[in-house]
Amino acid sequence: MASGRDHDRATCLSCLPFGLLLGVLLGHWCGLIGAVAFFVGGLWLSPDLDTHSNALRRWGPLAFLWWPYRRLLRHRSVWSHGPLLGTIGRLSLLTAWLWCLLAVIPGADWNTFWSSAIQWFNAQPQQAVAMLVGLEASVWLHLILDGDPLPVEWNRSRRQ
Ligand SMILES: [Zn+2]
Repeated sequence: MASGRDHDRATCLSCLPFGLLLGVLLGHWCGLIGAVAFFVGGLWLSPDLDTHSNALRRWGPLAFLWWPYRRLLRHRSVWSHGPLLGTIGRLSLLTAWLWCLLAVIPGADWNTFWSSAIQWFNAQPQQAVAMLVGLEASVWLHLILDGDPLPVEWNRSRRQ
């Protein structure tokens, strides 16, 4: 299993080639968005937020946002390290925190924010896809570096 530093180094080295590849396929803006999403996904939204990791330390005083994630999920569980499931879970948790934040800010409105986000996705589908693909690709790099890309629950059921 790769160390946190190995994951960080691989993310930094891979985000540019990944962005260039995506840029060739979808255009330069998508390449840039995908590279940034890959970088952010690998360093701040890593599956290893389920344990005390470099990614968790990068959140600094906001690390408490990941307390439910760490508390509810076992390290390398299918819900943190599962392809697609992990990314969906982390984005869902951040969305839930954003909902809480907007609920307490006077004048802020969740519905306005959410409809703006949906409008952006509808108006820029390729950029939205590039962002999501960049986030998920960083997870796949993480899983490949860990040597056994299947989360622990899947490995257990595979052995039975
Ligand atoms: Zn991991």
